[in-house]
Amino acid sequence: MNYIDLRSDTVTKPTPEMREAMAEAEVGDDVYGDDPTVNQLQVKAAQMLGKQAALFVPSGTMGNLLALLVHCSRGEEVIIGDKSHIYVNEAGGMAALGGIFPHPIPNQTDGTLRLEDIRASIQPDDSHRTITKLVCIENTQNLCGGVVLSVEYTKQVSQLAKEHGLKFHIDGARIFNAAAALDVDVKELVAPADSVMFCLSKGLVAPIGSMLVGSNEFIARAHRLRKMLGGGMRQVGVMAAAGLVSLEKMTGRLKQDHARAKNLYEGLKQVRGLRLEAQPSSNMVYFMLADHIKLTENQIIAEMKKHGVMVDWSAPRQFRLVTHYWVDDAGVEKTVKAFGDVLK
Ligand SMILES: *Cc1c(COP(=O)(O)O)cnc(C)c1O
Repeated sequence: MNYIDLRSDTVTKPTPEMREAMAEAEVGDDVYGDDPTVNQLQVKAAQMLGKQAALFVPSGTMGNLLALLVHCSRGEEVIIGDKSHIYVNEAGGMAALGGIFPHPIPNQTDGTLRLEDIRASIQPDDSHRTITKLVCIENTQNLCGGVVLSVEYTKQVSQLAKEHGLKFHIDGARIFNAAAALDVDVKELVAPADSVMFCLSKGLVAPIGSMLVGSNEFIARAHRLRKMLGGGMRQVGVMAAAGLVSLEKMTGRLKQDHARAKNLYEGLKQVRGLRLEAQPSSNMVYFMLADHIKLTENQIIAEMKKHGVMVDWSAPRQFRLVTHYWVDDAGVEKTVKAFGDVLK
């Protein structure tokens, strides 16, 4: 069966064009710096984000961890959202592997961290306290609904960080979605950041890989640490080739996913038994089950699958549906109809 799979944009399989590029990629040993396709991808990513250098990493989690390890030493502190992927969903890597102390502050419903909360969290120069080194934001903010943080807000966080001598990292797993939603060049959105991680393997459809970007010095240190973490890869140009297709062909089409998320939202709003709140800002539609629905989340997932649609829940009584390259208009219609049938 050919399922409509809305569980995440991570489920995107490579396109035929990607598979062809992968098959034909020129490769070399990237630990020697010899893989021309990886080198090309890194140059292209740095250019597109307006930074000096970039590093290809196996996952977004490793990219974020590298950024934290470069910016902070053991016992130093990072100010971070309590609903951020780095804090919630990266297995505590910063603390377990880096001895870095997270200082979580609330993500607001719009995904931001309040500037006054950031300011109040910066530790004073006092031997009892940890040393604050870094502020992280996430854009788009996944757990807040795939919401988009603005250029203006990003500048304000950067300004505040600079005033206090802090570094500023963006977990931009879906930064191209954010840029598409804002209709700005991604360069402008990340200009104020010292480092940015983004994923090739989500809405950009590549099978594997993320990019870390920043200054030459930052990337040189991240490169050494990547080796330490076991992330030095050999003929990885076969993966980088897919990443190049992502940057060249996929970054420009994300608005289609966002338009389909809006259509999905409008359709699901008409389904009795679902409670939809804010309109989607990017490619994610979050909703709750109404109180009268007696089916469990797992029963709904199983019934939807019988209708050819794969979905997943994100919290008790809450679902998250994500649109992507392999979900077309017919897939959106089919999903709305299936929810109507299952919840009847
Ligand atoms: C997916 C994701 C990551 C991590 O990426 P992996 O490749 O799954 O390790 C980091 N941050 C956010 C916001 C994400 O959605």
